[in-house]
This record gives sequence, C-alpha cells and structure tokens, in this order.
Amino acid sequence: GQGLMAGKRGLILGVANNRSIAWGIAKACADQGAELAFTYQGDALKKRVEPLAAEIGAFVCGHCDVTDMTTIDACFAKLEEKWGKLDFVVHAIGFSDKDELTGRYVDTSHGNFLRTMDISVYSFTAVAQRAEKLMTDGGSMLTMTYYGAEKVMPNYNVMGVAKAALEASVKYLAVDLGPKNIRVNAISAGPIKTLAASGIDDFRYILKWNEYNAPLRRTVSIEEVGDSALYFLSHLSRGVTGEVHHVDSGYHVVGMKAVDAPDI
Ligand code: NAD
Repeated sequence: GQGLMAGKRGLILGVANNRSIAWGIAKACADQGAELAFTYQGDALKKRVEPLAAEIGAFVCGHCDVTDMTTIDACFAKLEEKWGKLDFVVHAIGFSDKDELTGRYVDTSHGNFLRTMDISVYSFTAVAQRAEKLMTDGGSMLTMTYYGAEKVMPNYNVMGVAKAALEASVKYLAVDLGPKNIRVNAISAGPIKTLAASGIDDFRYILKWNEYNAPLRRTVSIEEVGDSALYFLSHLSRGVTGEVHHVDSGYHVVGMKAVDAPDI
C-alpha cells in the first residue's frame, strides 16, 4: 500500500453519521492507506455506520456503548481475532444531557455529572487499557477535546469540566504508556455542527462568534480536523505525546472580540 498510513490498522470510535468528526478522521486515514475498524452505538446508528464503513472498506466491530465494559471487551476481542495487533485508536465520543447544556453549570445534577464523566472521560481510559495490549509495536491514541476545558464557554457547563478531566487524563496516559512507545494526544477542535454539538444551547451563536473572531475568520471542517489527526496517528508526530493541539482557526489565542467583528 501507499500513503502516510500504509500498513497501519486503527480503531475509530464515535462515527454517528457523515458529519461526525470521527468520519472526517476516518476518511483522511483511509485516503492515506490505513485499514480501519468502526464501532456503532446501538441499532439506530448501525444503519448509518455500516454504509460509511463500506465506503472506505472499514471493518465493523459491532455495538459498543462505553458505559458497558462488556461491549468494549467484545469489540476488542473481535479486533484481536481479526488483526492480532493495533497501531492506532481514535476516541471521538462525548455525551451530556442536553437539558444541562444550557443555563448555569452550578445547577448540574449528580446523575448527569457522573454520566457525562463516564462517557466523555473514563471511556478513553477504558479504551486505552484494552488498546495497550494490542499495541505491541507501539501506537498512537487520539481523543477529541474543546476549548471549554480551558475557558468558560456559555452553555458548555459540565462538558467543560469533563473535557478538562479528559485533557488531564491524556497527560497521565502519555506517561504510563510512553515506555511502550504508545503516544497519547488530543485535538482541541473549534466548533463544528454535528449531532453532539446540536445538544448545546445557542450553538449557532458560538459558531458565528468563532467565524467572526478567529484569526482565520472562519470555522473548521471535519476534513481539516482529519488532516491534523493524520499527523498524530502517523510517524510524523513520533516525538510528540501528552499534547493538546488546537485545530480551531487559531481561536484559542484571541483575547477579545475582533474590532471588525459584526454584531451577532
Ligand atoms: P457526533 O455526535 O458525530 O459524535 C459523538 C459520538 O459519541 C457519536 O458517535 C455517539 O454515538 C458517541 N457516543 C455518545 N455516547 C456514547 C456511548 N455511551 N457509547 C459509545 N459511543 C457514544 O459529534 P462530534 O462533534 O463529532 O463529537 C465527537 C467528539 O468531538 C466528542 O468528544 C466531542 O465532544 C468532540 N468535539 C466536538 C466539537 C464540535 O464542535 N462538534 C468540538 C470539539 C470537540
């Protein structure tokens, strides 16, 4: 095979439809010669994921709900049977009750706090535990985060607290797995209109704000996130681990509203 990812095999978690960030990453990897495996969450998404997998010749491992460790184990068992080893994993999973992606963080319920942390933070560690065993020649693990981990963004609330914990876990995992030449990094993507993002109140306003105030004066696409992911998943970033890399049109360096930004 040819390309930056030729000969590499990777598991991508978090494809829901063709607007998913995971799909942008999958396409970029497949274009560069990677062999891929997908999981889906429940039968509703199976119907969406299977045709996408077929488009790029990806193997479908089956149902994986990260709150149920037995479903993660089942997917890794299938991967071990099919490939025996793994070169990379992409974790593009997050969830919080949309009723709490609005209003005040202080009003977060105990139940949704735990569920948000379980799905959006612990799942990456759970996946890393299992992937480690298959990454016998080293490997690369990548997760997706957002600027709401660093600064308070309207309505992001408990998801921001979860992303802060996810970014910290990237650093701890990088230290644990570094001796095995397994690298662990995160991409902090700018806002993109996806299924998950539509749960955030006033998301359109956040998109507009980024478009008007980011240095590049536009938002980013899943293709752009996919291309940046190639760096982390390929040998190009072989000296890099524990990193949180912004793919956000430069928004994270901006200190205040652009003077020429229109009113929204
Ligand atoms: P998406 O809705 O396409 O993907 C979210 C995925 O999470 C879906 O595939 C869904 O099935 C999966 N998921 C949710 N709960 C799950 C569970 N219990 N078990 C297994 N899978 C589960 O949306 P997206 O925006 O592509 O989200 C991917 C990642 O990117 C998330 O971590 C999100 O926080 C992050 N992110 C998104 C943006 C944005 O603006 N869209 C920006 C920065 C970071």
